Order: sequence, then C-alpha cells, then structure tokens
Amino acid sequence: MRTESTPVLIIGGGLVGLSASLFLSWRGVRSVLVERHPGTSIHPRAWGLYPRTLELLRGVGVEKAVLAESAGFAGHVLNGRVESLAGAEIAVSRIPEPEDVSGVSPVERIVSLSQDRVEPILMERARELGSDVRFGAEAVELAQDADGVTVVLRDRAGGGEYAIRAEYVVAADGAHSPVRERLGIGRGGGGCCGTR
Ligand SMILES: Cc1cc2nc3c(=O)[nH]c(=O)nc-3n(C[C@H](O)[C@H](O)[C@H](O)COP(=O)(O)OP(=O)(O)OC[C@H]3O[C@@H](n4cnc5c(N)ncnc54)[C@H](O)[C@@H]3O)c2cc1C
Repeated sequence: MRTESTPVLIIGGGLVGLSASLFLSWRGVRSVLVERHPGTSIHPRAWGLYPRTLELLRGVGVEKAVLAESAGFAGHVLNGRVESLAGAEIAVSRIPEPEDVSGVSPVERIVSLSQDRVEPILMERARELGSDVRFGAEAVELAQDADGVTVVLRDRAGGGEYAIRAEYVVAADGAHSPVRERLGIGRGGGGCCGTR
C-alpha cells in the first residue's frame, strides 16, 4: 500500500479540523486534513461567532472575509425551531441584541454567520498558507506505536486505499468521534441540552 508521511494528520474537516489546519499552517506546521465528505458542510448548523473567536480569526487573516460574508445576515433576528425544513414550526424566538464588547475587545460584537459559510473561508485560508486539505478521504484504520500513528484512508470516489504515517493525529471527527471511541477515550457530563 502507498504510504505518505506528514507531521500532523487531521481527521475531519468540520469547524474544528479546518481551524486546526489553518492555525497549524499559520504557525508553519505542515499538516494533511482528510474529510470523508466531498466538500465542506452543506448544513448551516452553528451560526454565532463570539468576539474571542473573531480575535483569533483576525490573527490569521480571515476576520475581514468573515465580516464581509456575514453582512447578508444583518437583520436576521428570528430563531426558529422546526420539525424539518418543510415541516411544522415548533417555536420562534427573537435573537437577543448582541452585547457591545468594544470596551474590552478590538472586535465589536458577536457576528452571525452560519457554519456552511464559515468553513469555506477557513479552508481557503488554510490552503493559501500551505495546508493539504483533502475531501472524499475517509480514515478507516488507525494504529499507534511508539513513534507515531499510521492511518489507512479510503478514497471514497475512486475506492482505493492508501496510508499516511503521522507524528501526531488530531481527532476532529465530530462529537461522536470514531477515533476517540477507537482509542477507548470516554465522555462524561450531562451532554447537550440536559440529555444523557
Ligand atoms: C442543527 C444544528 C445546529 C447547531 N447550532 C449550533 C450553534 O448555534 N452554535 C454552536 O456553537 N454549535 C452549534 N451546533 C454544533 C456545531 O455544529 C458543532 O459543535 C460543530 O460542527 C463541531 O465541529 P467539529 O469540527 O468538532 O465536528 P463536525 O462539524 O461534526 O465535523 C466532523 C467532521 O469529521 C468528518 N469525519 C468523521 N469521521 C471521519 C473519518 N473517519 N474520516 C474522515 N472524516 C471523518 C465528518 O464527515 C465531519 O465533517 C449545531 C449543530 C447542529 C446539528
């Protein structure tokens, strides 16, 4: 099997993986990111960017792109809970006015921009800084030894497999992380919204 090598392999190309890729590249650390889906998220999901996040994004040169993209969200003041996009409405509430934090941060306030719009901005900047971001690549096996980690990847379009040998692996494969489970790392706490 063909084997590549990289200092850092990031599994998962959501907000966490793309951020890891971007911040590592900005620090001059080479990485390969593999995401099983063919592109960034098509679902809006998270939409609120807090001032501290924007401060960090400013540092890596994407704050302006985020603010420009978020202009289209100005005036969106309602938050709806629905059974599905075409289904019944459960509840609609008014989003509170964002607090003005300009006294303590160079960033003025929380910005609304959904995850499907943020991820491409992070990805483009990460690639610009030298990150190797690959879509349609699924991590299917992972083995750790004293010197590093070997991960087998399946090319979901072509069907072939290859391996990447990394000094470090970042498990950015989501809340239900198969990598975390494979390593036997448990979870504690009440979980989201009081569920267990
Ligand atoms: C409806 C909805 C609304 C939400 N609203 C908010 C909100 O308002 N505010 C907020 O803060 N959060 C919100 N969230 C949560 C937010 O979306 C998550 O916290 C965020 O996506 C977590 O990012 P992540 O990168 O850890 O995981 P994910 O975004 O889940 O990304 C993980 C990625 O890993 C990939 N992956 C998994 N296994 C493999 C593998 N073996 N090989 C390669 N790739 C793999 C997946 O395809 C996925 O793209 C919401 C979520 C949902 C569903």
